Amino acid sequence: MVFKKTYSTLSSEELIAKEKSNMDEQRFQHCIGVSETARKLARLNHYDEEKAALAGFIHDYAKQVPVEEFIAAIKDPANGFDQDLLNWNRAIWHGIVGSHFIERDLKISDDEILTAIKRHTTADVTMTTLDKIVFVADFIEPHRDFPGVETARKVAFANLDDGVGFELAHTLEFLVKQRAKIYPKTIAAYNVWSIKKEN
Ligand code: GDP
Ligand code: FE
Ligand code: FE
Repeated sequence: MVFKKTYSTLSSEELIAKEKSNMDEQRFQHCIGVSETARKLARLNHYDEEKAALAGFIHDYAKQVPVEEFIAAIKDPANGFDQDLLNWNRAIWHGIVGSHFIERDLKISDDEILTAIKRHTTADVTMTTLDKIVFVADFIEPHRDFPGVETARKVAFANLDDGVGFELAHTLEFLVKQRAKIYPKTIAAYNVWSIKKEN
Protein backbone atom coordinates (compact mmCIF):
# COMPACT_ATOMS: atom_id res chain seq x y z
CA MET A 1 0.00 0.00 0.00
CA VAL A 2 1.54 3.29 -1.16
CA PHE A 3 -0.08 6.73 -1.26
CA LYS A 4 1.26 9.32 -3.68
CA LYS A 5 2.46 12.55 -2.10
CA THR A 6 -0.21 14.63 -3.84
CA TYR A 7 -2.60 15.36 -1.01
CA SER A 8 -0.40 15.52 2.09
CA THR A 9 3.00 16.91 2.98
CA LEU A 10 3.59 13.63 4.84
CA SER A 11 5.17 10.65 3.10
CA SER A 12 3.13 7.50 2.49
CA GLU A 13 5.04 5.73 5.31
CA GLU A 14 4.31 8.58 7.74
CA LEU A 15 0.61 8.61 6.85
CA ILE A 16 0.30 4.86 7.32
CA ALA A 17 2.20 4.97 10.64
CA LYS A 18 -0.01 7.79 12.01
CA GLU A 19 -3.19 6.03 10.95
CA LYS A 20 -2.04 2.75 12.52
CA SER A 21 -1.07 4.35 15.83
CA ASN A 22 -4.46 6.06 16.19
CA MET A 23 -6.57 2.87 16.23
CA ASP A 24 -6.60 -0.83 17.05
CA GLU A 25 -5.61 -3.51 14.54
CA GLN A 26 -9.20 -4.44 13.62
CA ARG A 27 -10.08 -0.84 12.78
CA PHE A 28 -6.83 -0.51 10.82
CA GLN A 29 -7.72 -3.57 8.74
CA HIS A 30 -11.19 -2.07 8.12
CA CYS A 31 -9.50 1.10 6.81
CA ILE A 32 -7.35 -0.94 4.43
CA GLY A 33 -10.51 -2.71 3.23
CA VAL A 34 -12.29 0.60 2.66
CA SER A 35 -9.25 1.95 0.79
CA GLU A 36 -9.15 -1.04 -1.57
CA THR A 37 -12.91 -0.98 -2.13
CA ALA A 38 -12.83 2.79 -2.74
CA ARG A 39 -10.14 2.23 -5.36
CA LYS A 40 -12.33 -0.36 -7.08
CA LEU A 41 -15.41 1.89 -7.00
CA ALA A 42 -13.31 4.77 -8.37
CA ARG A 43 -12.18 2.65 -11.30
CA LEU A 44 -15.78 1.62 -12.04
CA ASN A 45 -16.96 5.24 -11.85
CA HIS A 46 -14.06 6.88 -13.71
CA TYR A 47 -12.80 8.72 -10.63
CA ASP A 48 -9.20 9.34 -9.46
CA GLU A 49 -8.22 5.97 -7.92
CA GLU A 50 -5.33 7.37 -5.87
CA LYS A 51 -7.50 10.02 -4.27
CA ALA A 52 -10.29 7.55 -3.49
CA ALA A 53 -7.83 5.04 -2.00
CA LEU A 54 -6.37 7.70 0.31
CA ALA A 55 -9.77 9.07 1.40
CA GLY A 56 -10.95 5.52 2.14
CA PHE A 57 -7.83 4.73 4.13
CA ILE A 58 -8.13 7.76 6.43
CA HIS A 59 -11.95 7.96 6.73
CA ASP A 60 -12.01 6.47 10.27
CA TYR A 61 -8.77 8.10 11.49
CA ALA A 62 -10.66 9.67 14.43
CA LYS A 63 -12.91 6.69 15.21
CA GLN A 64 -11.17 5.99 18.54
CA VAL A 65 -10.36 9.54 19.60
CA PRO A 66 -11.45 10.09 23.25
CA VAL A 67 -14.84 11.78 23.73
CA GLU A 68 -13.24 14.68 25.66
CA GLU A 69 -11.06 15.53 22.66
CA PHE A 70 -14.08 15.67 20.35
CA ILE A 71 -15.94 17.91 22.82
CA ALA A 72 -12.95 20.24 23.19
CA ALA A 73 -12.59 20.49 19.39
CA ILE A 74 -16.31 21.28 18.96
CA LYS A 75 -16.18 23.93 21.72
CA ASP A 76 -13.04 25.64 20.40
CA PRO A 77 -14.37 28.76 18.58
CA ALA A 78 -11.33 28.69 16.29
CA ASN A 79 -12.73 25.54 14.63
CA GLY A 80 -16.12 27.07 13.81
CA PHE A 81 -18.19 23.93 14.54
CA ASP A 82 -21.98 24.11 14.94
CA GLN A 83 -22.54 23.76 18.70
CA ASP A 84 -25.55 21.53 18.01
CA LEU A 85 -22.97 18.77 17.48
CA LEU A 86 -22.70 18.59 21.28
CA ASN A 87 -26.20 17.07 21.30
CA TRP A 88 -24.84 14.02 19.42
CA ASN A 89 -22.19 11.42 20.05
CA ARG A 90 -18.98 9.94 18.70
CA ALA A 91 -20.86 7.98 16.00
CA ILE A 92 -21.55 11.35 14.35
CA TRP A 93 -18.40 13.14 15.54
CA HIS A 94 -15.71 10.83 14.14
CA GLY A 95 -16.47 11.97 10.59
CA ILE A 96 -17.64 15.57 10.96
CA VAL A 97 -15.20 16.52 13.71
CA GLY A 98 -12.70 13.86 12.66
CA SER A 99 -11.94 15.88 9.52
CA HIS A 100 -10.41 18.49 11.86
CA PHE A 101 -7.99 15.92 13.33
CA ILE A 102 -7.17 14.62 9.85
CA GLU A 103 -6.33 18.11 8.65
CA ARG A 104 -4.18 18.73 11.75
CA ASP A 105 -2.40 15.37 12.09
CA LEU A 106 -2.31 13.96 8.56
CA LYS A 107 -1.67 17.35 6.92
CA ILE A 108 -4.46 16.99 4.40
CA SER A 109 -6.18 20.16 3.23
CA ASP A 110 -7.92 18.95 0.07
CA ASP A 111 -11.58 20.02 0.44
CA GLU A 112 -12.96 17.15 -1.56
CA ILE A 113 -11.25 14.60 0.70
CA LEU A 114 -12.21 16.42 3.92
CA THR A 115 -15.85 16.70 2.78
CA ALA A 116 -16.00 12.98 1.99
CA ILE A 117 -14.70 12.27 5.52
CA LYS A 118 -17.29 14.62 7.04
CA ARG A 119 -20.13 12.92 5.14
CA HIS A 120 -19.00 9.30 5.51
CA THR A 121 -21.32 8.36 8.40
CA THR A 122 -24.45 10.46 7.80
CA ALA A 123 -24.31 11.09 4.05
CA ASP A 124 -25.93 14.33 2.86
CA VAL A 125 -28.49 15.65 0.40
CA THR A 126 -25.71 16.58 -2.00
CA MET A 127 -22.94 14.04 -2.48
CA THR A 128 -19.91 14.32 -4.76
CA THR A 129 -18.59 11.21 -6.50
CA LEU A 130 -15.87 10.90 -3.84
CA ASP A 131 -18.45 11.29 -1.03
CA LYS A 132 -20.44 8.41 -2.53
CA ILE A 133 -17.36 6.24 -3.05
CA VAL A 134 -16.18 6.56 0.57
CA PHE A 135 -19.71 6.23 2.00
CA VAL A 136 -20.42 3.04 0.04
CA ALA A 137 -16.91 1.51 0.37
CA ASP A 138 -17.23 1.84 4.16
CA PHE A 139 -20.38 -0.28 4.04
CA ILE A 140 -19.30 -3.04 1.65
CA GLU A 141 -15.55 -3.51 2.27
CA PRO A 142 -14.51 -7.19 2.46
CA HIS A 143 -14.46 -7.39 6.30
CA ARG A 144 -18.12 -6.34 6.55
CA ASP A 145 -20.36 -9.24 7.41
CA PHE A 146 -24.04 -8.57 8.06
CA PRO A 147 -27.26 -9.90 6.53
CA GLY A 148 -27.67 -8.03 3.29
CA VAL A 149 -24.03 -7.15 2.64
CA GLU A 150 -23.90 -9.31 -0.51
CA THR A 151 -26.92 -7.47 -1.94
CA ALA A 152 -25.33 -4.16 -0.95
CA ARG A 153 -22.16 -5.09 -2.85
CA LYS A 154 -24.10 -6.19 -5.93
CA VAL A 155 -26.20 -3.02 -5.98
CA ALA A 156 -23.25 -0.68 -5.35
CA PHE A 157 -20.93 -2.21 -7.94
CA ALA A 158 -23.73 -2.02 -10.53
CA ASN A 159 -24.65 1.61 -9.74
CA LEU A 160 -23.02 3.92 -7.17
CA ASP A 161 -26.13 6.06 -6.53
CA ASP A 162 -28.22 2.95 -5.92
CA GLY A 163 -25.52 1.81 -3.49
CA VAL A 164 -25.94 5.06 -1.52
CA GLY A 165 -29.73 4.62 -1.48
CA PHE A 166 -29.52 1.00 -0.35
CA GLU A 167 -27.08 1.83 2.42
CA LEU A 168 -29.11 4.75 3.80
CA ALA A 169 -32.30 2.67 3.90
CA HIS A 170 -30.45 -0.19 5.61
CA THR A 171 -28.80 2.12 8.18
CA LEU A 172 -32.09 3.87 8.97
CA GLU A 173 -33.85 0.53 9.45
CA PHE A 174 -31.08 -0.51 11.81
CA LEU A 175 -31.24 2.75 13.79
CA VAL A 176 -35.05 2.72 14.02
CA LYS A 177 -35.00 -0.90 15.24
CA GLN A 178 -32.68 0.23 18.03
CA ARG A 179 -34.80 3.32 18.72
CA ALA A 180 -31.60 5.32 18.22
CA LYS A 181 -31.62 9.10 17.86
CA ILE A 182 -31.24 9.86 14.16
CA TYR A 183 -29.20 12.79 12.92
CA PRO A 184 -31.49 14.98 10.74
CA LYS A 185 -29.01 14.96 7.86
CA THR A 186 -29.24 11.16 7.68
CA ILE A 187 -33.02 11.39 7.23
CA ALA A 188 -32.72 14.22 4.69
CA ALA A 189 -30.18 12.14 2.75
CA TYR A 190 -32.51 9.12 2.82
CA ASN A 191 -35.26 11.27 1.28
CA VAL A 192 -32.96 12.14 -1.61
CA TRP A 193 -31.15 8.85 -2.28
CA SER A 194 -33.40 5.99 -1.16
CA ILE A 195 -36.88 6.94 -2.36
CA LYS A 196 -38.26 4.99 -5.33
CA LYS A 197 -39.03 7.14 -8.38
CA GLU A 198 -42.82 6.61 -8.24
CA ASN A 199 -42.99 7.91 -4.64
P1 GDP B 1 -17.79 2.80 10.93
O1 GDP B 1 -17.19 4.06 11.47
O2 GDP B 1 -16.91 2.11 9.94
O3 GDP B 1 -18.23 1.87 12.04
O4 GDP B 1 -19.12 3.19 10.11
P2 GDP B 1 -19.94 4.57 10.03
O5 GDP B 1 -19.03 5.72 10.17
O6 GDP B 1 -20.76 4.51 8.79
O7 GDP B 1 -21.00 4.49 11.20
C1 GDP B 1 -20.76 4.48 12.56
C2 GDP B 1 -22.06 4.21 13.28
O8 GDP B 1 -22.92 5.36 13.23
C3 GDP B 1 -22.88 3.05 12.72
O9 GDP B 1 -23.19 2.16 13.76
C4 GDP B 1 -24.13 3.72 12.16
O10 GDP B 1 -25.26 2.88 12.25
C5 GDP B 1 -24.24 4.92 13.05
N1 GDP B 1 -25.05 6.02 12.49
C6 GDP B 1 -25.15 6.43 11.20
N2 GDP B 1 -26.03 7.44 11.08
C7 GDP B 1 -26.49 7.70 12.33
C8 GDP B 1 -27.45 8.61 12.89
O11 GDP B 1 -28.08 9.41 12.20
N3 GDP B 1 -27.66 8.54 14.25
C9 GDP B 1 -26.98 7.68 15.05
N4 GDP B 1 -27.24 7.68 16.36
N5 GDP B 1 -26.09 6.80 14.57
C10 GDP B 1 -25.85 6.81 13.23
FE1 FE C 1 -16.82 5.72 10.26
FE1 FE D 1 -15.56 2.98 8.57
